Amino acid sequence: MNWKDSEEQAAFRDEVRAFIRERFPARYVPDTESEQSLEPEDVYGYNWVIDRRSDNPERRSAANEWAAALAEKGWVAPNWPKEYGGAGLGVMEEFILHEEMMRARVPTVNGIGVFLMGPTLLQYGTEEQRRKHLPKISSGEEAWAQGFSEPNAGSDLAGVRTRAVREGDAYIVNGQKVWISQAQYADWLMVLARTGTDPEQPRHRQLTFLIMDIKTPGITVRPIVDMRGDTPYNEIFLEDVRVPVENRIGDENRGFYVAMSTLDFERSGIGSTIKYEQALLRLINFMKSEEAGTYLRRDWRESVRKEIAQRYIEIRVLYNLALHTVSKQAAGESPDYAASINQLFSFIVHDGLAGTGAKTFGQYGNLWQREDNPLGGFFTHDLIDVVAQPFIAGSAEIQRNVIATRGLGLPRA
Ligand SMILES: Cc1cc2nc3c(=O)[nH]c(=O)nc-3n(C[C@H](O)[C@H](O)[C@H](O)COP(=O)(O)OP(=O)(O)OC[C@H]3O[C@@H](n4cnc5c(N)ncnc54)[C@H](O)[C@@H]3O)c2cc1C
Repeated sequence: MNWKDSEEQAAFRDEVRAFIRERFPARYVPDTESEQSLEPEDVYGYNWVIDRRSDNPERRSAANEWAAALAEKGWVAPNWPKEYGGAGLGVMEEFILHEEMMRARVPTVNGIGVFLMGPTLLQYGTEEQRRKHLPKISSGEEAWAQGFSEPNAGSDLAGVRTRAVREGDAYIVNGQKVWISQAQYADWLMVLARTGTDPEQPRHRQLTFLIMDIKTPGITVRPIVDMRGDTPYNEIFLEDVRVPVENRIGDENRGFYVAMSTLDFERSGIGSTIKYEQALLRLINFMKSEEAGTYLRRDWRESVRKEIAQRYIEIRVLYNLALHTVSKQAAGESPDYAASINQLFSFIVHDGLAGTGAKTFGQYGNLWQREDNPLGGFFTHDLIDVVAQPFIAGSAEIQRNVIATRGLGLPRA
């Protein structure tokens, strides 16, 4: 493959840069004190799904203005067809758009809706479902949450116990979900529920993919406080929730396959590589500054130099891996296990980067407060944030299983 922009791609890159310069609201500034999203694709200092409902009217209006500006161009969901509010761009252009947004440190809009639910509807939804939801996702009006995991069904997703029983033209859903990101800010929820009861059938062929308005009676969303004191995810209780049959995505008892596609879309994201590169550059610039001498002994600085160089190499490898995945998609192939390689290696790179960053500051790396802390304690916080990353979209071991079986053709353990 050719790693260089074609003439059209270079022109598109210029167009994106100019657009960000002109349309990104100056008052929408990064806020390192606010709750950071744990999603690797999100830019540090922003959490658009929270910002769009912020108590601070200025932040709220800035987040909504940014969404409206992107939506005008179809750039909230750039590679969706125009009829659903996208821009009909190819995946390479989408890659360039997101790369430039990350480089300019401006947030993408409506992550779960755009990156997960939209592609799932495009692949499995009926025309009516697409027309109802896609324009609202691509305008930033409708935010989504992904309700797959349960207390005893995470890696083993086929073990889902939430039940959906058909009653006339609706399903009655009962059960519990856990670790559901941003559900307290969402308008709609996707849920994997058990519909089959045939003991002869495999467990995963008895699940159905349903979507529900999160305000439907019987749905209780309870935020979970994490060790940072933030509430990035939730428990959800479903009690006799009535879901119209028209809210089923795909066929009854075939929801596991729909959910697997949703996870493939989630795993093939690319933005994180630029985010790590920017974090490393912050560290490098700090090391070169006068201020570094206040915090670091010279011999210590020598000892982290090699580690920093190693981290830089890994980040470049991750960038090329991401580009490889996107080029497969551009050639009409499914990302398949390449998405798992991306997801896994992204965690490995992030984990190493956060560790090197915190270590660079010696004892200061143990300070949680941001004030009087080098780089505002950025890497100390990052080291805590990264703990959650190997679980998002399937744990690191599950990604390794996918690579071993689907990628290398090794027998299942
Ligand atoms: C920040 C964050 C956000 C999340 N957001 C969402 C969300 O929005 N929606 C949602 O549905 N879920 C979400 N999750 C849940 C996530 O998908 C699960 O945590 C993940 O699938 C692992 O499941 P589990 O927590 O039940 O752990 P378990 O499945 O119990 O795994 C525990 C450990 O055992 C290992 N293990 C399990 N099975 C195997 C195996 N077969 N081979 C080798 N090792 C194995 C795992 O790798 C892990 O280390 C989120 C999680 C986090 C941390």
